[in-house]
Amino acid sequence: MGLGLVGNAQNPGSQRSWWLREALAAGGEEPRPPLREDLNADVVIVGGGYTGLWTAHFLTERQPALRVVVLEADICGGGPSGRNGGFASGWWDELDGLITLYGPEAAVRACRAISDSIRAIGELCDQHAIDAWYRRAGYLFAATSAPHEAVCEEMVRLAREVGAPEELVELSPQEVKRRCASPAFRGGAFMRDGASIQPALLVRGLRRILLEKGVSVYEGTPVTRLDSGPPALAVTPQGAVRAPRAVIAVNAWAIGWPGLRRRLVAWSSYMVLTAPAPERLAEIGWTGGELVSDLRTSIRYFRTTRDGRIAFGGGGGRAAPRIGDSFTRDRRAVAEAADGFRRLFPSFADVPIVDAWGGPIDVSGTHLPVFGRLEARNLFYALGYTGNGVAPAHLAGQVLADLVSGADTELTHLPMVDRPLRLYPPEPLRSLGAAVLRRAIIAKDQAEERGRRPPALASALAHLPRRLGYLLGP
Ligand SMILES: Cc1cc2nc3c(=O)[nH]c(=O)nc-3n(C[C@H](O)[C@H](O)[C@H](O)COP(=O)(O)OP(=O)(O)OC[C@H]3O[C@@H](n4cnc5c(N)ncnc54)[C@H](O)[C@@H]3O)c2cc1C
Repeated sequence: MGLGLVGNAQNPGSQRSWWLREALAAGGEEPRPPLREDLNADVVIVGGGYTGLWTAHFLTERQPALRVVVLEADICGGGPSGRNGGFASGWWDELDGLITLYGPEAAVRACRAISDSIRAIGELCDQHAIDAWYRRAGYLFAATSAPHEAVCEEMVRLAREVGAPEELVELSPQEVKRRCASPAFRGGAFMRDGASIQPALLVRGLRRILLEKGVSVYEGTPVTRLDSGPPALAVTPQGAVRAPRAVIAVNAWAIGWPGLRRRLVAWSSYMVLTAPAPERLAEIGWTGGELVSDLRTSIRYFRTTRDGRIAFGGGGGRAAPRIGDSFTRDRRAVAEAADGFRRLFPSFADVPIVDAWGGPIDVSGTHLPVFGRLEARNLFYALGYTGNGVAPAHLAGQVLADLVSGADTELTHLPMVDRPLRLYPPEPLRSLGAAVLRRAIIAKDQAEERGRRPPALASALAHLPRRLGYLLGP
């Protein structure tokens, strides 16, 4: 059956992600009407994904009378927060970058803060009866080539070195196989900090909590201009919000924002989803609910669903200078994700792929996010999740709420707060560089997976970002 793409999988972007369609069907809520007047508020938040909604949540937890307005161009969760893989994953595998940037003590504080967020997301779901399929079953790293086994060993060694040996343990090929059997997997590592969620149910649940608390949420309301003032003025097509402080929570859309655009590359990521096949999952022993990924630079990540499907993402993606169709309608990227799935799970050969979707991720020069404020001291932002924003956005929401309120807390002293991000070159150099790099990385990943030496040029190019001081690539 070739790649076995049927139905929605053949026409990505023509509808919302499977997660969001399920969530909208379960919730039955109407979209909130667009802003059609001029308003005054205490805080205006641009963007209704996890970052914007968590920030509104923590602000109103701390100061219930605060007038918070959320302005969302689409519907809340219409962006990546309603389309992601649902990996709420720990940062222990990021220790290398964290230590390079901040030193071991601060790196561990950052990892612990993310672990707290993973726990807290589950607790919030319990407290507010949000059934977002939260399941804390850990994260399996499965090596598909010899160099990746070495990467696993290094990850485990670093966790041990910073005094957290329980967070990441090495797995033999047999141990990997027991959790999820693929003929492509070798040894690996297991990180206990990892929970799967149904991403759209989480973001829509958050929206519900905010509406119940009386937070003003306007959907279908793109902010076309944000002046810092003070007070800040957020202008939309039919109205404006004036507030002393504003939060920019627009994720990869920040490439259109002055002051932020050089801090990220917008990169597409695509997922495919199989038909339910619980009996096949049982055959390969993948019934524990673990999050799984390989260790390629062009990472492939996959998880199961409650009804026995596999949601499988990654394997390439592309950069673009504007958020347009290439982030949602790229059939080639869907085919690449599907091809990765077919290679790793040959026993699912006759299970069709029934859905596919994509979205933009905000790749920072350090592979890690920062939370802070712009030169105009009343504009706050979180940026650079680099495809790992589910748990970090919860932390960002708390940090931004503290920064906006002027509170001096443990969280505002985390190392990624108020840190400069390394700038990328301006366009068109940035997109050209990203395209060359992408090809090199994929060539290197493929060669390694086939047990060959990567071509010298591809290898040199793939290592170039690190030589230039970015924490990207191998
Ligand atoms: C396919 C895919 C898979 C992913 N998988 C994972 C994963 O498994 N685990 C993980 O941790 N992360 C994953 N991510 C990344 C994760 O989804 C994001 O990091 C996270 O959702 C960021 O939340 P956010 O609120 O900052 O951004 P978003 O959810 O993108 O929200 C930003 C919002 O701002 C709105 N907006 C933009 N411009 C304007 C404007 N001018 N005016 C008003 N509103 C505006 C957008 O419509 C959007 O709704 C994935 C991403 C993709 C695309």
